[in-house]
Amino acid sequence: MKQLHLTGAALLCAALATTSTTTLAADASLSAALADHALKIEDFPRTHQLAPGVYAYEDTLITPKLAFTTNSLIIVTNDGVVLVDGQDNEARAASLVNTIKKLSPLPLKYVVMASDHRDHVGGFPTIKAAWPDAVYISSSASLKTMQGQNRPVLATELVDDKRSLKLGGVEIQILNIGRGHTGGDLVVYLPASKVLFMSELYYRDIFPSTITGYPSEWLAALRKAQAMDATWYIPGHGFAAGTAAELKADFAQAVTVMELIVAEGKRLHPTGAKCPSEKDCPANAQAKWGTYLALTESEIQAPRALARMYMEIEGRLPK
Ligand SMILES: [Zn+2]
Repeated sequence: MKQLHLTGAALLCAALATTSTTTLAADASLSAALADHALKIEDFPRTHQLAPGVYAYEDTLITPKLAFTTNSLIIVTNDGVVLVDGQDNEARAASLVNTIKKLSPLPLKYVVMASDHRDHVGGFPTIKAAWPDAVYISSSASLKTMQGQNRPVLATELVDDKRSLKLGGVEIQILNIGRGHTGGDLVVYLPASKVLFMSELYYRDIFPSTITGYPSEWLAALRKAQAMDATWYIPGHGFAAGTAAELKADFAQAVTVMELIVAEGKRLHPTGAKCPSEKDCPANAQAKWGTYLALTESEIQAPRALARMYMEIEGRLPK
């Protein structure tokens, strides 16, 4: 496994450093971590061009519990723009709107809601205010989730299997390759540039969150994605920067981590090692997570993943 990217510690320090509670220690640790990656908190949001008209967009997500990046995909065509996934609040959505306007004078035509979680949909009211006519697309499972949460911006078009959009001569495939992180997960594939935006099915260098996940189905979806003719595997969380080869290698690591989650759940459950919940999971001490404990968020996410696997094995996952 390669060195961790700047994910947890450094960005958390960055959050501290921008408040009045700045300490010399936080400064030192922040400086060291950022220097490691030649980054500053002011470097975000940032945009990476993947192919002509295709951009990965990355902003920070810093809450008391989380500190990493959340990614969107921007597709610019000569007949308008397509956005895949938003950001978590108005301020970050406003930055996203500015970036889109700098990339193209044409309007945003479609928004694909590949993840229905707050950190990807919270900013949609700001985006809708900027382009009221854009069409919002999600899976029906995600529509149901967002209706249940009284989200102000909901999909008006649904994709439960596959839909191909053609805009300005660019083909944009919206695919359901199986449930993983949210249960309503979609991915977006561009056949011409071979870009595959994985949304929350791909956590890069972060222990994946199974809080609402379906581990074995998630693994199956990842294997399907791995078999696709894609050059760029773009994560929903974790750095979107790097070469296609680096992103692909880290995607292979994400598949291995999910294989391990499924395998450790299946190995430990029959031994009688207990894990009734993520907060009460003595079995986690026996799990062979190995070097993956170095992934960002592993302390929270490893016991959660095991508890979720136990739910799967015991038939207790939501249908
Ligand atoms: Zn998320």
